[in-house]
Amino acid sequence: MKTIFLDRDGVINRNRENDYVKSWCEFEFLPNALKAIQQLTVADYQLIVVTNQACVNKGVISSETLDEIHERMVMEIETAGGQICAIYHCPHQDNDGCDCRKPKPGMLIQAAYEHVIDLSRAYLIGDSLRDIAAGQQVGCQTFLVGTGHSSFCGSVQPDKVFTDLSAASLWILDSN
Ligand SMILES: [Mg+2]
Ligand SMILES: [Zn+2]
Repeated sequence: MKTIFLDRDGVINRNRENDYVKSWCEFEFLPNALKAIQQLTVADYQLIVVTNQACVNKGVISSETLDEIHERMVMEIETAGGQICAIYHCPHQDNDGCDCRKPKPGMLIQAAYEHVIDLSRAYLIGDSLRDIAAGQQVGCQTFLVGTGHSSFCGSVQPDKVFTDLSAASLWILDSN
């Protein structure tokens, strides 16, 4: 079974302008995201969400609320015929010095250990160069989508660029 790591904000759901998703009512699926996740699930891909949520350690939302948002998100995805294998979140801020906040690859390494994933055969889809950098450090094939915070600065180059999760998913489904 192949694994696809998905960033959350800007990939699955809409990025809020200069704000975090602080409650379920602020969580808005991007167009075709549910359909893309359903199609990947049917094609037997293992989907794992890896998301930076510094809002937790900033005290903007509680980890209980974040868990609740993720429970609701997974329920909606399952209702649409998709499945999420696991969700990893980093609650830290840049200056906390953790190993999990992307661009650090800690969440990917932990997921690989807990779910026996060959990272060199895994994909990572993100909207930020932080995501791409994390994936590249552990040998994933990295796809940048244009539905979020993407910007082409620095030396980080994704393997491919797509308009959105749906386009990236179609490419993966076509190429395998
Ligand atoms: Mg994002
Ligand atoms: Zn962290």
